[in-house]
Order: sequence, then structure tokens, then C-alpha cells
Amino acid sequence: LTTLYLNKKEIREHAAWRNVQIIFQAMAGLIWGSSVVIFQTHHSTTAQLYNYTVLTAVTGLTAVSLFTVYKAYLFFSLSIWICPVFYFIYLGDDVHLHFSSGVIVLLIVLNAFGYIASKQKKEGIYERFKASQLTDYLAEAMAKIEAMAKTDSLTSLYNRRYGMEQLTKEHERQKRYGEDLSIIIFDIDKFKNINDTYGHAAGDEVLVSFANLVKKTLRQEDLLGRLGGEEFALILVNTRVVEAKQKLELLRKSVAKMTINYAEQPLKITVSLGVADWDRPHKENLISLMKRADNALYSAKSSGRNQLAFAKLF
Ligand code: GH3
Ligand code: MG
Ligand code: MG
Repeated sequence: LTTLYLNKKEIREHAAWRNVQIIFQAMAGLIWGSSVVIFQTHHSTTAQLYNYTVLTAVTGLTAVSLFTVYKAYLFFSLSIWICPVFYFIYLGDDVHLHFSSGVIVLLIVLNAFGYIASKQKKEGIYERFKASQLTDYLAEAMAKIEAMAKTDSLTSLYNRRYGMEQLTKEHERQKRYGEDLSIIIFDIDKFKNINDTYGHAAGDEVLVSFANLVKKTLRQEDLLGRLGGEEFALILVNTRVVEAKQKLELLRKSVAKMTINYAEQPLKITVSLGVADWDRPHKENLISLMKRADNALYSAKSSGRNQLAFAKLF
């Protein structure tokens, strides 16, 4: 029942089943009640007493099991006693008439109990439903916060914090397994000019277009993040940059070929890349690796920009 309550769509189906249940319980009640006719034919007081006791017990116990569908209980308890009560009235003697009034009191008490219990049960289910809704909502919010904590809001790439965290993890892993790791720092050339000439919003548009273009050419396992401003970092695992060189060159060329339309203004950019392979034999630390990539970027800039430069080993 709880699960049904959790899903509103199923509640509608459940309503139909509840009607079926009411009908079946009413029929079951009639069958139980008709037993009175069989036992009366014995003309034995013990058998009759036994019969009434069983019917009373069934009426009581069913109140507990059926109270979640209160109406089903109402119909069941009434239909169980229809035959006996009419039969007692038909007999008309004092004992049977007293027994009839006893049954009526029993039905009133048990139905009041069933009604209150079913109401409380429903409230309990509703509370649980609300709690589970809240849990879902919290899980959703947590997922959103987690995604936000690692994403750069402008480009939707990983942000610096998450990128560095991942780089540290990869560095540890590659160190343990003796595999390759390389890092590429991208810096858009003369980006300040775009901001100065076309405005900050144009600059933002350029950053987004650039990020999308790079994202498109990456493999699933490559990690791309925005270091800040117009600087991006790409982490390649199990790859030496020599192997990726052609791809990076192609990427550099496609950046230069790309035209970004901003407010009907065609904008063009170029990018410089500083590339460093992790010095595996010397188990180079991350600071040194980043510094070498940065130096390589600097030399790409000083050699005229729009190019790729490899880091030297210290
Ligand atoms: P270089 O070729 O030497 O890299 O020159 P540059 O102009 O690209 O480099 P510089 O560091 O002088 O300028 C970077 C500019 O990027 C300065 C800053 O205003 C701008 N910038 C940083 N973050 C953002 C951003 O989120 N959006 C926009 N539109 N501009 C940004
Ligand atoms: Mg820069
Ligand atoms: Mg720049």
C-alpha cells in the first residue's frame, strides 16, 4: 500500500482494486455469516455457541488485518452478521434478541476502531510519502551541488579545483602502475583584445565556443578543465604527447579555422599550447610537471603564438 501511495498514477489503479476488494470482502462476509444456517440445523446450543464465537473472533481479527481499506472492513463486518441477525430476529426469543443487540454493539465498536485506525494508518503512510519525497529532493539537490562543485559555470568544463584533484589522482595512479601521463595547457592568444574590442560578453561567447570545439575532439578518458580566464588544461592518461601531437596540431588548426558569430560579428581566435610529458623515470612531482607545461606555453607565446611547444626536461 505504501508503494502504491508513493506513485500517484498507481493510486488510481489501486482505487479500482480497492472496489474489487470491497466486493470480495462483502462476499466473504456473507459466506461466513451463512454458516449460521448450517449450525442451526444441529439444534445444539454448543454448536451454535461455537459458531457465534468463531464469527465474533473473525469479525474482531479482520478489523486488524483490513483496517487499511476501511470500507472493505465495513462491508465485511456487516455482511458477516446480516444472516445471523435476521435469523435471530426471526427466532425472536430473548436470548437471540439479546445476542443481536450484542452483535450491533460489537459492530459499532469495531467499525469505530477500524475507522480511526485506518485514518491513522493513512496519515502514517502520507508522512512516509512526504519523507521519501524529501529524501528524493535532497538526493537531487546533492547531485546538483556535486555537479556544480566540479563544473565551470560558463563553459561546463571541469573547474580548476576538480581538474587539479583529478590530476593529483591520476598522477598517483600512474606512479603506482608506471604508466604515462601528459598535460597540455591551452591559452587563447590576445584574448584581451576580444574583450576590449567586442565586449566581455563576446569574450564569454568565444570561451564557450572554444571549450565546445576542444570537447568534441576528445576521447572519453581525456580530462579537460578550465584553469581560469582563457586558460584550459587537458590531461591525457596512458599517452605520451608525441602520440597525441598530430591530434593537438589538428585541434590548434581547427581553432584557427573556427569562426564565432557574435552579434553578427565574425570573431576569429588562435590558441597556443604548452605540452609536457610526465617524467616517469624520475617520478616527477606535479608542481614540476605543471611548471614545465607552463614554460612550454610561454615559449609558444614568445615564438609568435598559434603554435604548440614541448616542455624541456629540467
Ligand atoms: P596572450 O596572447 O599573451 O595570452 O594575451 P591575452 O590577452 O590572451 O592574455 P591576458 O592574460 O593579457 O588577458 C586575458 C584576459 O582574459 C584578461 C581578462 O579580462 C580576460 N578574462 C578572464 N576571464 C574571463 C572571462 O571569464 N570572460 C571574459 N570575457 N574574459 C575573461
Ligand atoms: Mg592567459
Ligand atoms: Mg591568452
